[in-house]
Amino acid sequence: MGHSTRRGRKVQRMGNEKKACRDISSLSPVAQRACRAFLRECEKEGLPVLITETYRSQVRQDYLYAQGRTRAGKIVTWTRNSRHTGRMAWDICKNVKGQEYADAAFFAKCGAIAKRLGITWGGTWDTPDKPHFEVTKDWKEKEESEVVEKCKMIINGKEHTVERILKDGTNYIKIRDVAEAIGYDVTSKGNVAVLTKK
Ligand SMILES: [Zn+2]
Repeated sequence: MGHSTRRGRKVQRMGNEKKACRDISSLSPVAQRACRAFLRECEKEGLPVLITETYRSQVRQDYLYAQGRTRAGKIVTWTRNSRHTGRMAWDICKNVKGQEYADAAFFAKCGAIAKRLGITWGGTWDTPDKPHFEVTKDWKEKEESEVVEKCKMIINGKEHTVERILKDGTNYIKIRDVAEAIGYDVTSKGNVAVLTKK
């Protein structure tokens, strides 16, 4: 029994370098937040993103580096020092069979989202790596969705212009605008809003 367990572990260890880890939770906490924010924005824009690799062990990085150099195959990486080994990078493809890497517009759109979020896209590099995205440890989520914007609200068939903030799928509408639209005056008692029918 002990023998077969040992052998099993050995087989698994040898197999690890050939297998990509796709688990977002194996990234550092900051990269997890960045990756999830990225996926959320891609989903909003209807981009079918599939994560193909996240954390990469140094053994696997070395294994990939050897490809096309000391081992047969096409060169797939330029470095033995990857942000993947530091748990700060992830790779994607288009989740459409046969078009995984063929759609340049898809990667450009993902790259634009990354830029907005302060995430580095490998597609902008001198030697482009379009499926690759990475962050540094001081990455912070931009609260770009928390922008006050004018929008319309219809009450009993009548249109009103109100100011709102859209955050995580919820509308936060300025209480003064809502009150005005439904015929109330707004005053305040400390931080409590007081609405009185006009
Ligand atoms: Zn990568």
